[in-house]
Amino acid sequence: MNEGVNSADGIVYEGVNASDGVGIGVARVAVEPDLSFTPHAPADAQAEKERYEAAVAKFIEQTNAQIDRMTETVGPEAAAIMGAHIEFAEDEGIKEMVNRSIESGKCAEQSVSEAYDMYYNMFSNMEDELFRERAADVADVKTGLLADLLGQELIDLSTLPENSVVIVHELTPSMTADIDKNNVVAIVTETGGRTSHSAIIARALEIPAVLSVPDATKNIKTGDMVVVDGEKGKVLPKPDDRKLRHYRNKAKQYAAEKLALEAYRGKETLTADGEKKLLVANIGNPDDANVAAEHDCEGVGLFRSEFLFMDAKELPSEDEQFAAYQKVALCMKDQPVIIRTLDVGGDKEIPYLDLAKEENPFLGYRAVRYCLNNPEQYKVQLTALLRASAFGDIKIMVPLVTTVDEIRQVKDLVKECMRELDERGVSYNKDIEVGTMIETPAASLIAEDLAEECDFFSIGTNDLIGYTMCADRGNDKVSYLYEVYQPAVIRSLKRIIEAGSKAGIMVGMCGEAAADPLLIPVLISFGLDEFSVSAPSILRTRRIISEWTREECDALAAKVVKLKTATEVKAMLQAAAK
Ligand code: PEP
Ligand code: MG
Repeated sequence: MNEGVNSADGIVYEGVNASDGVGIGVARVAVEPDLSFTPHAPADAQAEKERYEAAVAKFIEQTNAQIDRMTETVGPEAAAIMGAHIEFAEDEGIKEMVNRSIESGKCAEQSVSEAYDMYYNMFSNMEDELFRERAADVADVKTGLLADLLGQELIDLSTLPENSVVIVHELTPSMTADIDKNNVVAIVTETGGRTSHSAIIARALEIPAVLSVPDATKNIKTGDMVVVDGEKGKVLPKPDDRKLRHYRNKAKQYAAEKLALEAYRGKETLTADGEKKLLVANIGNPDDANVAAEHDCEGVGLFRSEFLFMDAKELPSEDEQFAAYQKVALCMKDQPVIIRTLDVGGDKEIPYLDLAKEENPFLGYRAVRYCLNNPEQYKVQLTALLRASAFGDIKIMVPLVTTVDEIRQVKDLVKECMRELDERGVSYNKDIEVGTMIETPAASLIAEDLAEECDFFSIGTNDLIGYTMCADRGNDKVSYLYEVYQPAVIRSLKRIIEAGSKAGIMVGMCGEAAADPLLIPVLISFGLDEFSVSAPSILRTRRIISEWTREECDALAAKVVKLKTATEVKAMLQAAAK
């Protein structure tokens, strides 16, 4: 995220891409109500308590009305989110705290403020992101109660004119609940992450949203024309005609494609001639599993477990990790869930591990190398994974493997953890599969040997392209080399998939290239079994797979593998695209 950058596209603000789609409309900057008050000592404590009780009752009534409205617009599941507000409003502990404070001589405003601030601080300091997000609910209830006590009107988003882009510091869940989908075309906030309630509801309402844009309420003015690209997390105020045309086209295409893709929901993933593929999702935290399920995934092909470690202040315990893995397993029911063990290092920093700075972090002490050097720490994760395997089809995946030794050592550790769990009398799946990511040229070159040791492969093209081409994808000057269409990469993919298939193990791909519409027919021809893509790409990937017969894919791939430049490969794939 950054402040507005001046690019060829004019000013562009960047934030968290919380809800897909393109919204183009007129900015409505919502001004927060003034909830300041002067603390005073009420003459009659009983009357003050009654004033507080009346505010609670009114808040609950209003929230119930919102829940009813939302049940109609976004369905009961999203509406249930507002249930937390009612719980926080009628929580006996909070009520007792407020009443005691009033009895001690403070006014209702101060008592409510202090009690809810205490709960807010408690939630916002919790490690679990979900709990931290609940702090927003607590703040929302405090705002509602204070507004009522002070006779202030809260921001009402239910009466905005058509084509409004809501720009607001923080979109509280109750504000989100008021939004009329027919009038609000996009949402921009200065706070909030992808798992915030606001983001969840924005997705449920299918309103494009970009959150955590710094100073959005100052930099964008009511009345400004704004483009919001929810997929890319970009906000473009005052677009010129060229940009407007571009984004209007993008919005139209998005809407048309989205509608058409619904035909693929609930269907199996099959090629045009009926070859079955597995279409699974990449996720970063346990809550993403729900989002992936909403997008009709057939399981999880990559759970990047390092986010559990990156979001924490110290190493997550076995129980904490178990809870996270179990949650995903339960969410996916009997569907496969591939969980990758800690992929630390390179671009993924975990400050509390205190790893020494390296000259070449991408070629250094990272991922499985770090884990095998810290076996006791690694065993905590492996044990948590084994325990969670009793609740679903969990598979263990090892990142950045370059030698057969590494995979053998991991398997030995898994066996050791199994023995320890047996001694503890804890159940787990004794036949749990252990596979490897193939994301280094070394792994590609010894794919046949690795296949003998592994239950499955998953190709990590994000790293494989970089390591194969010796090109950092963050470096503009060499981005022409960082391309999946480079013949060296294409040939590497072919040999990996063929080696895995020959050994009879499942070969999947969890790098971004798995969702590349141009590449999909080539991957089908090579024999890829599983495509693991981001949740919003699921239905589109299913559609593209369904458009190709094996014969067509083979004919195309046979020509592609003979080409000598990335430009030729891309041009051929573009010409063949359906
Ligand atoms: C990859 O390298 O392709 C991959 C999926 O892993 P990550 O992007 O997390 O490095
Ligand atoms: Mg990788």
